[in-house]
Amino acid sequence: MSVNPLRIKNHTGVSYRSGTVVYQMCRDIRAHDNDALLFAQELAKSAGAQLIVNYVIWNYKWQGATRRFYDWVLPSLQEIETELRKHSIPLVVTFEEKRLFKDHPTTTIPPHIGAVVIDQLPLHFMRRWKEVFVRDHVTVPLYEVDAHNCIPVWHASPKQEFAAHTMRGKIHRIFPDFLENYSTLSMHHENHELLKSLAPLDWDDIKTKISCREDVAGTETFIPGERAAQKVLTDFLDHKLTQYETARDAINEDGQSNLSPYISHGNISRRRIILELLKKINSKEKDTITVVDAFDARKNGSNGTMGSVAAFIEECVVRAEISENFCHYNSLYDSYDGFPIWAKETLTKASTDTRVHVYTRQEFEQATTHDELWNAAQMEMVKTGKMHGYMRMYWAKKILEWSSSPQEAMRIAVYLNDTYELDGREPAGYVGCAWSIGGVHDRPWFGRPIFGAIRYMAESGVAKRGKVGEYVKRWVSKI
Ligand code: FAD
Repeated sequence: MSVNPLRIKNHTGVSYRSGTVVYQMCRDIRAHDNDALLFAQELAKSAGAQLIVNYVIWNYKWQGATRRFYDWVLPSLQEIETELRKHSIPLVVTFEEKRLFKDHPTTTIPPHIGAVVIDQLPLHFMRRWKEVFVRDHVTVPLYEVDAHNCIPVWHASPKQEFAAHTMRGKIHRIFPDFLENYSTLSMHHENHELLKSLAPLDWDDIKTKISCREDVAGTETFIPGERAAQKVLTDFLDHKLTQYETARDAINEDGQSNLSPYISHGNISRRRIILELLKKINSKEKDTITVVDAFDARKNGSNGTMGSVAAFIEECVVRAEISENFCHYNSLYDSYDGFPIWAKETLTKASTDTRVHVYTRQEFEQATTHDELWNAAQMEMVKTGKMHGYMRMYWAKKILEWSSSPQEAMRIAVYLNDTYELDGREPAGYVGCAWSIGGVHDRPWFGRPIFGAIRYMAESGVAKRGKVGEYVKRWVSKI
């Protein structure tokens, strides 16, 4: 088997024998470097069977999806439809009402379907979907493939990790074993007849049929899709990587990779990013550099290129995968209830502290707080779909400071993040908010009003990362 079996889980415990294999693509929208698709193809080929890729449009039910979300998803799908057809694989788009498997006990799966393969996605939505499937379709193999993480989330750790340092050790030990190269998608000759009967999709028609929030429009900041993701990666490796360690926090510079919208929608895998990064640095160095060298560099506080490589791997692997770990093991990942006990205790004690400013969700959304810096960060997100990484911490911590309660603060932060960020609806988003507001993966700090022992952040901290006035000028204007 070319896909590492540790990346695959069989939820019904029934083995595949024959019949059409359906890969229900969800968070990993790419034709290449996709272990879920590669596994689905391997399965189908083992029985000489057909293979279909299916994407279900859930309309509003997909976390209050917006036009901004679908303006990313549809072009991404359109691009892969062409790519899949080159390999004789059809892409079928179904709307919630007509999808193959309804959330209804009487629904049966068409008898010609022999197995279903799905993406790993540790969010409520997918949990419920899996529960219903396993409950109602015990005889159909349901394979979940973690094509999203470098190390499969269920293998990286068997439990919820409470701090980055505990997860880091585990990742460092096994990461090199999970950096295998991808195999390539083959021509699916078994689909020859099927493909003739399925015309290419009418994307304009699909676009008009979607019901979603139209008031959150798409942005032109980034071009969606698999090809664009490769270009953004190349640009990062060629022009930004060596400065990453310092430039990523500079609020007026474009020092981050800008890969998050692509990673989030699965247009590129984080494993591919690390493989290309290693290729790039090794084409320049005399000795071969491995991820283990990068981990050592981090421990030894190296700077220069190795410092930047290590800092990038820390974010792109350790921080990203501890976020996945949190959502996988903690079903309360997006609410106050999921915070650690010490954080809930300290926030409860501070809950009666006087709040000088209290804003509603709408006031935050309209960027009408008293703080120009906060308003600017909100506007950067609304306009571009991507707030600067450093500003996200300030933004979320001030929501805690100016909300009626920490519970409300978490609700507002999650809502805004999911609605406007192109990389939202993603474990890193829930954990980013929960880290800022609820001390998740952090430790207690000095006590302060409203925050209790939750780490505080002031504008003076942001000012160390660039001229605040310049940032405000760039983003503050009427929405
Ligand atoms: P780079 O600095 O170039 O990082 C490369 C990749 O590493 C990112 O694309 C991402 O996959 C990963 N990464 C970087 N920082 C983190 C981090 N702190 N935690 C987990 N993974 C990380 N990230 C999201 O992907 N989606 C979100 O919705 C999101 N919301 C956030 C909300 C708050 C309040 C905070 C504090 C952080 C949030 N982050 C989120 C994490 C981080 O800010 C973004 O991943 C990063 O800014 C994305 O830009 P980039 O790809 O240019 O980052």
